Parts: sequence; structure tokens; C-alpha cells
Amino acid sequence: MPVALLQICGGYSLVSDELRSLFDECSRDGYDSGLNRRSGKPAGPPCPALKDRRVVQFLFDRADVTFQTELAIVGPYDEDNNELIDPFEISHPPDAAMQAKLSALDPLVDVRYLKNVVAGSDHSLGSVRLQLDDGQTTDLNISSAIYPFGHALCFRLMQGFVPRLTPNMFWATVFAVNGTQYTTLVDDVDYGDISDCLDQYIELWHGYSWVDRWEPVKRLPRRLSAALAKKPVDPADLRDYWLGRGKMYVFVRPDNYVVHLVELSSCSQSVCYRFPIEVTAANPVNLVHLPPRPIYNLSVIEQLPVELLVHIARLGRLSNTITLLALSTTLRQALLPSVEMLAKHHLSPWAFPTSSKDWKKWNKLLGRARTTEDQLSWLAYAKQCVLSPSMRNRERIYGIVRQLEGMAVKHGVIPSL
Ligand SMILES: [Zn+2]
Repeated sequence: MPVALLQICGGYSLVSDELRSLFDECSRDGYDSGLNRRSGKPAGPPCPALKDRRVVQFLFDRADVTFQTELAIVGPYDEDNNELIDPFEISHPPDAAMQAKLSALDPLVDVRYLKNVVAGSDHSLGSVRLQLDDGQTTDLNISSAIYPFGHALCFRLMQGFVPRLTPNMFWATVFAVNGTQYTTLVDDVDYGDISDCLDQYIELWHGYSWVDRWEPVKRLPRRLSAALAKKPVDPADLRDYWLGRGKMYVFVRPDNYVVHLVELSSCSQSVCYRFPIEVTAANPVNLVHLPPRPIYNLSVIEQLPVELLVHIARLGRLSNTITLLALSTTLRQALLPSVEMLAKHHLSPWAFPTSSKDWKKWNKLLGRARTTEDQLSWLAYAKQCVLSPSMRNRERIYGIVRQLEGMAVKHGVIPSL
């Protein structure tokens, strides 16, 4: 029976396997799957499915596939024999002796974080392939009960968002919450939209049936078939697919703003950004000043001093501030000079880089857009974050990581702040 392994972001482990098979098949047949788009070196003629540019807009790109297929696992490791503790001994379910042994593990000493992992040849049965330091590979069989794994990028993001939630502490948290329970999810974590669309996603890949001799658009959900029948593709259909009812953003690489998904008319399909800075610079939001209401007819809130209004706006959400701007021209006049500051204030940590490498990239993007942080419209940036499938997934993963942090504190894995 196929197993779905526990991932940080709630992703379906078989997605990695599906994508790996898909692109293995593509390169074996001498086609360019589009994965080399960034390097600019096609691996061969484009595969037939990709000749239809309308289809491409509904597919994952190279960055998404890399995200889905680069994995890492964390769990008990036998340092003496340089191997995992046999996971099958643990998962069926463990006897009292094994349970005691697992409970006695020190997550800092006995647990190892293993990166350079990809789906194994029998991933549907729990196999992963580990690349060793000497370049050799070894296949390991894991179970979600004791070897939670995740996209390597999700582990990096987790530590970027909450530095003290290291992979080892993540393991200790999962063990504290789930014990040796065989499950794909950490109990009580809200994984957001991903739980609603797994079936649709898998159905979609089977629907494309690329492995059936590259015949695209077969057995697609009816809504998608209808969207693909239009020439050109309606941007509203694309938005619905990636961000709306389709919710496909939950599988998009969470550090790579893919412009073509939402801004078809104004951007090149080949341009990818880590953060939506360039598209923000190209699409500023200009809020117009409007005359205030007559002073003799003001409501109580409209009579508040500007400093207090700004303070109130800082306490709420950005959407509340936008509502205030639309509610009254007097409030608009008072708040408009502070709106960029308020927009930046309301952006959560997920909207910014989490590593020095990403900060360098961020600064490079600012330079490329011929702008500075002071000149960038944070209101426009916030809007682009909402429109970006990548940033939306980043926000979702941030929410999961913060929940895990709360659980780690609750179970005494890490101290409360
Ligand atoms: Zn993930």
C-alpha cells in the first residue's frame, strides 16, 4: 500500500515521485522538459506537451520541480553503524522496548538531519535515496512515524523564520506531539489549503498523462479543459487555477516569484524573481488625494488627531487601513502620508528574506529595478505578494512553522520567549 510520508508543509510525498518520473521520462526520450529554461540550454526539442503555450501556463516550472524533488529527512541515527534505526521495527507499531528506546533519545545527539535526499525507486513504499559525501547513493526505507521529512527548502525556511526550530528540534516536536503514531500530518497543525486539493492535484498529473506519450489535456477536470479551450488563456482562469478555487499555489516553490502566473500581459514568461520587487517597481500603486469632508460634519473617529489614527492603523491589519482610506476622505487625507510606512509595518516576516544569501539577492533585485527600499512602494509590494502563488505558499508555510514553534514550546522542546 502506498505511504504518504509526513512533511513539514503538509505536501504529499508522492508528488516528488510523480515529478521525478515525469521529467526522467522526458529526458530519456530526448525532449527538453522546459527544466533548462533558466540555464538557457535546451536539452533537446521541446516535448510535445510544451509546444502549446497555453498548457505551459498551467504547469509547474523548473524552480517548482526542484523544490518538490529536493528532500531532507530527520530521525534517529545509529552513529556506530552509520545507519538509520530500522524504521520498520518502529512503525508496526513499536513494542514497549523500542518505545522506551525512542523516548530516551537525545534529539541533539541521537538524531541526524540528512540532506541531499531524493525520492527513491519505490518512494510510494517509503524509499528515499540519500547521496553520501563520497558521491555514492544509498536507498533508505523510512516511515513517517519516526522519520518526518520535508522539502530541503522548507527546512531552510523553517530555520529562517524561527532559527531555534532546528531540524533536530523539529524532530523532537513531532515526536512529542505524534509519538510513534503513523500519520502524514502533525496533530493539530492547520496546513491551510493543501488539505483540500491533493486529490485534484494528483488527478491533474494523471490527467495530463505526459507519460502516455505526451498527450496533454486528457482527462483534465472540466473547468481546466474549458480554461484551456480559450485562446488566449483568460488571466482570470489562471488566477482561479493558481490562487482561487484551484489552490495550486500550495505546490509552488515558496521563494521564487513566478510572474507569468498572474501578470501575463506585462511580463516575460522566462523571468523569475526571488521576491516581487521588480514587478512592484513596474506596477506602482498611486493613491489619489481627495478633498476632506466638511469640518462641521465629522464623525468621532474623523476628529481624532492624526498621530492617534496612525497608531490605530498600526494595530490593525493592512486591509483595515485600506478600508479606512476608502471609508472617509478625511481619514484618507490623514493617513495617506503614512500609508507606505503602514504597509511595510504590516508585512509579515515571510515577505522578507530569511538568510544573508537572500538579502544579497534582494539588494540585487532592488538595484536591477533601479530603486531602493525607501523608494519602493510597500503597498504595491504587499499587493504583488498577494498575487504571487510563490509568496502565498511562503505565507502558508510561515503559518505552519509558527504553529510548530508553539507546539515545541508547549511540549518543552524549546523554552518560551
Ligand atoms: Zn515543504
